[in-house]
Amino acid sequence: MRLDELDARWRQLSEEVISGMKEWRLQHPKATFQEIEVAVDERLARLRARMLEDAALVSRAAEWEAEAGDRPLCSVCGTPLQPRGKQTRELTTQYDQPIRLERRYAVCPRCETGLFPPG
Ligand SMILES: [Zn+2]
Repeated sequence: MRLDELDARWRQLSEEVISGMKEWRLQHPKATFQEIEVAVDERLARLRARMLEDAALVSRAAEWEAEAGDRPLCSVCGTPLQPRGKQTRELTTQYDQPIRLERRYAVCPRCETGLFPPG
C-alpha cells in the first residue's frame, strides 16, 4: 500500500458508506433518530478501521523504504539487523472492528537480539 493509492481506496470506502447509508434510509423510512445514529456509526466504524489499518501500513512501508540499503541497526550492539519476515498482529478497535497489522521482524546476527524495528 503506497500513499498515493490511498486516495482512490479511501474515496471508494467513503462512497460505500454514503451509498450504504442512503440505501438503509430508503429501507427504514420510519427509523428513529437513535436507529439512524446506530446505522451511521456502524458504517463509519468500518471506514474508521480500514483507514487506521491503511494509514498504519503506509507509514511502516515508508519507513522501511527509507531504510533500504541502510538497514535498521541493533539497539544493543549497533550491527545491521537481518530481516526475518513478517508477523501479523490483530487488534480490535472501536465498535469491534478487527484490524490486522503486519510487522517486520528482524534479528541481530551478532548478539541475537530480536526486535520489531520501527515499521
Ligand atoms: Zn546486536
